[in-house]
Amino acid sequence: LLQAKDCDVVTRGRDQLDLRDAAAVYDFMKTERPDRVVLAAAKVGGIHANNSQPFAFLHDNLMIQSSVINAAHRAGVEQLLFLGSSCIYPKLCEQPIREEALLTGPLEPTNEPYAIAKIAGLKLCESANRQFGTDYRCIMPTNLYGPGDNFHPMDSHVLPALMLRFHEAAQNGAEKVLVWGSGTPRREFLHVDDAAAAALFVLDLDKTEFQEGVGEGRCHIKVGTGTDVTIRELAELLADVTGYAGGLEFDPTMPDGTPRKVLDVSRMSKLGWSAKAGLKEGVRETYDWFRR
Ligand code: GDP
Repeated sequence: LLQAKDCDVVTRGRDQLDLRDAAAVYDFMKTERPDRVVLAAAKVGGIHANNSQPFAFLHDNLMIQSSVINAAHRAGVEQLLFLGSSCIYPKLCEQPIREEALLTGPLEPTNEPYAIAKIAGLKLCESANRQFGTDYRCIMPTNLYGPGDNFHPMDSHVLPALMLRFHEAAQNGAEKVLVWGSGTPRREFLHVDDAAAAALFVLDLDKTEFQEGVGEGRCHIKVGTGTDVTIRELAELLADVTGYAGGLEFDPTMPDGTPRKVLDVSRMSKLGWSAKAGLKEGVRETYDWFRR
C-alpha cells in the first residue's frame, strides 16, 4: 500500500537488524532518519505459544518497543504508528469493548505477558506525546488472518491452525478433526489487507482529527469488524471452505482463553473507516493463496 503511494519504504529483516538491540536500532534510525515509523514487528503467536513462552512474549516485545520508540524519539521522528492487540483489554470487560475499558480489570491469563507488553508500548507512545509533544499513534487490531500468515500447527493463531488441519484432513479423507477448547469462545477476525488499510488511514489523519477521534489524552484506537463468531462456527466455515466432510471433536484439555472480545468499532467508523472483507470471502481467498 505504501509503495502504491510512491513512498520510499525502508525496512530491515531480522537477520539484518535485531529490534531488541537498542544501540543498533538507534544507529539505524539516526542514519535513515525516516519521516514516519510504523512498528508492526512483534513476537506474536496463538494461545498455546503465548501460554508456553510467557517470558519471550513479555521480554522480546518490551525490548522491541523500547528500542524502536525511544530511537524514533531521539532521532526526531515526528510520527509513529504502533500496532498492539485487542487482548490489552480486561478479560471480562463489557462487550463490545470500548477504548475506555483499558486498565479497568484483570487480563486474560493465557496472554497476560503479551498484553502487558502491548499496554507498555501504548503507554510509551502516550507518554512521549505528553512529555515531548510527539505525534505517536496506536492501533489495537482484533485477530488478523490472510495471506502470509503463520501456519505453524501449535504456535499459530486459531484461523490458520484450523485451515491447515482441515486442509490435511480433507486431503487424507480423515473422519474427525480436533478443535482445541470447548468451541464456545467468540472471536472477531480482520483480513490483513483491511488491517493494513486501517493503519495507513490512521497514519494519514491530521493530528487534530486523530486526537478528536480517539478522545482527550488517549492515543489508541481499536480496529476490527465489530462482529464475531464462535470457534465452532469458525471450524464449520473452514470445513466447508476446505471441502472437509468428516466430524468435529473438541479437546477440553486445551485452553479456551477469553470468552469474548468483540470490539466496539464506532470510533473508527466515525472517522470514516470500516473493514471491507467479509469473513467467508476473506477465508476463501486466503485458502486459494494457501493452496497456491
Ligand atoms: P486468542 O484470540 O488470543 O485467544 O488466540 P488464538 O487465535 O490462538 O485463538 C484461540 C481460541 O481458538 C481459543 O478459544 C482456542 O481454544 C481456540 N482454538 C481451537 N483450535 C485451535 C487451534 O488449533 N489453535 C489455536 N491457536 N487456537 C485454537
